[in-house]
Amino acid sequence: MNVLVLNCGSSSIKYQLLDMSETPEVKAKGLVERIGLETGDLCHKNDKGEKYESKQPVPNHTVGIKLVLEALIDKNHGVISSLDEIKAVGHRVAHGGEHFKESVRLDADAIAKIESICDLAPLHNPAHLLGMRAILDVLPQVPQAAVFDTSFHQTMPASSYMYPLPYRMYEQYKIRRYGFHGTSHKFVAEKACDILGWNIAEKKIITCHLGNGASITAVKYGKSVDTSMGFTPVEGVMMGTRTGDLDLGALLFIMEKENLSVSQANSFINKNCGVNGVSEISSDMRDLEAESEKGNERAILTLDMYAHRIKKYIGSYAAVMNGVDLIVMTGGIGENSCHTRKLVFSDMDYLGIKFDFELNKGLRGKDETLSLPDSKVKIMTITTDEELVIATDTKKLVFG
Ligand code: AMP
Repeated sequence: MNVLVLNCGSSSIKYQLLDMSETPEVKAKGLVERIGLETGDLCHKNDKGEKYESKQPVPNHTVGIKLVLEALIDKNHGVISSLDEIKAVGHRVAHGGEHFKESVRLDADAIAKIESICDLAPLHNPAHLLGMRAILDVLPQVPQAAVFDTSFHQTMPASSYMYPLPYRMYEQYKIRRYGFHGTSHKFVAEKACDILGWNIAEKKIITCHLGNGASITAVKYGKSVDTSMGFTPVEGVMMGTRTGDLDLGALLFIMEKENLSVSQANSFINKNCGVNGVSEISSDMRDLEAESEKGNERAILTLDMYAHRIKKYIGSYAAVMNGVDLIVMTGGIGENSCHTRKLVFSDMDYLGIKFDFELNKGLRGKDETLSLPDSKVKIMTITTDEELVIATDTKKLVFG
């Protein structure tokens, strides 16, 4: 039973076709880019690892979706013989506001609610809606579902999600902390507990999703009780190009000194800061690690800052939950960067952490326990799979 997973951006469509019959299997994946520009690109990979690329005008998302469907049924590089073999479509949706505490099957009411919160995610939700409407256009009989980055965090108590702003800002504009990467935090917390044979309802877990965007979540007894991203994905730990936590006064000062408009300031804090901004080398950890090995002091400072800010969140979430049983590292950096893990888990014995520095060396992209057997707190790397969560939720919502 095939589920098509879509992640529609304003000018791109990322997709995966998964066979969800028994053990989930990725049959094809790919990306349409440069939608709306003069020429668009399609890059498609099938289950034999064969790659197919094409360039043509892709004026809108409907044309983009049609290209994806054509690639899936193509005689040479396709993976299914007819579109009837697609039984459901699952969409990644960045923002569910306060409407969605879990994934939902799409109907007119759900679409209207997603539309009503477009101002909370102006770059993302309108693009997701284009994708949903394109599917309605070309595969009208196929059921669709939406899986939200925010919904896992809807269990946060008000003391975590409220900002110290006048209360009317929450009432009038719904300004509060929402959190993101929820599908990943939930998935890795559950997967780690499955591997350990633990009941998640009894455990205190800190999940660190460290990719180009990064967030850390306190998962108490299976529920998110705090998370580092807030009203937008700019808050929290330092990221590839986003600031993470920053004194608001510093931003106002910069805006005045550099004469930045609101939209220029928004672009600045999202695209010009973080790892890339401090290092002035790259936003990619691999480049910084290579430079730090050569003794580049700016690269060393950037990596030290990155780890320091993660440590602070781990300490504060251990305090928030009155303890921690397990810390999970995931995302491109959490799964692969031995250097970041070494810095984060050095000098953490006050929490009862005994880190296996030897096993950590060279460990990449694997589910593994990285704490010593007598460590009070377990440390694990867990590979995340957001598309699998979307396909699983979609299957459950559509077929029970
Ligand atoms: P993601 O957004 O989860 O795909 O993570 C992307 C980031 O993971 C990249 O920008 C790199 O900084 C980091 N990354 C990927 N592979 C490695 C690696 N082998 N060592 C260190 N960092 C890595």
